[in-house]
Amino acid sequence: MIRLVGVGKTYDDGTVAVQELDLDVPRGRTVCLVGPSGCGKSTTLKMVNRLIEPTQGRIFLDGEEITRADPVALRRRIGYVIQQVGLFPHQSIRTNVATVPSLLGWDRKKAHARADELMDLVGLDPAQYGGRYPHQLSGGQRQRVGVARALAADPPVLLMDEPFGAVDPIVRSRLQDEFARIARDLDKTVMFVTHDIDEAIRMGDKVAVFAVGGRLAQYDEPATLLGR
Ligand code: ADP
Ligand code: ADP
Repeated sequence: MIRLVGVGKTYDDGTVAVQELDLDVPRGRTVCLVGPSGCGKSTTLKMVNRLIEPTQGRIFLDGEEITRADPVALRRRIGYVIQQVGLFPHQSIRTNVATVPSLLGWDRKKAHARADELMDLVGLDPAQYGGRYPHQLSGGQRQRVGVARALAADPPVLLMDEPFGAVDPIVRSRLQDEFARIARDLDKTVMFVTHDIDEAIRMGDKVAVFAVGGRLAQYDEPATLLGR
């Protein structure tokens, strides 16, 4: 589904963030990218999302090289959730989630119905939370909104960059389980960045272990990593 071939990224200031990266993310599976801070995980995700361009190698989505794909079409195929999702502060949660359906040209009523459906999906009761504003939600709830928004256009691919990294441990553990279920039920292909090996092992069908210098050190199933 997603294939990186010989991908490298050297930033303009000479920082080598990723080197000689070959990675295959199978359809409908979750691959966790794990490793210490600064080893190129976010850079990898941003290249797949075309927020930045690789300096070496090629990236394919469904066999198509992403540099050739129409950027607007690409956005609809890829949902993106970051550590601190940015919500529009003066809009209700329902309106925040309805942004993408509205951009897709849906009328207000239909966009709001879709927003409610998405809120349900991520465990936020639309009747209770739809009319609230971002500052009235907890960090974990805001991340749920981020996931709902990323799912709005029903993209086959989700890129998650430490989505639960700033959430307290008990809530994080619930979010991990719930998101894993959502990804499985909706058959999403997921690249999930974390610096937490436990999270990677829990969430990933496969785990890509990055080493300092932006090289892939290991790419295996969790059971293999655990030596089972
Ligand atoms: P990770 O997600 O694993 O923490 P990153 O991909 O964010 O790692 O960063 C990899 C390396 O690239 C780090 O050394 C980081 O400082 C550097 N880096 C990230 N973004 C930039 C940038 N825009 N310009 C220069 N260097 C960068
Ligand atoms: P924000 O609400 O602050 O924009 P997001 O988590 O939605 O936060 O995304 C961070 C940024 O990344 C946004 O500015 C968004 O435009 C951009 N972005 C990059 N790729 C995508 C994508 N595939 N889908 C949606 N937004 C994307």
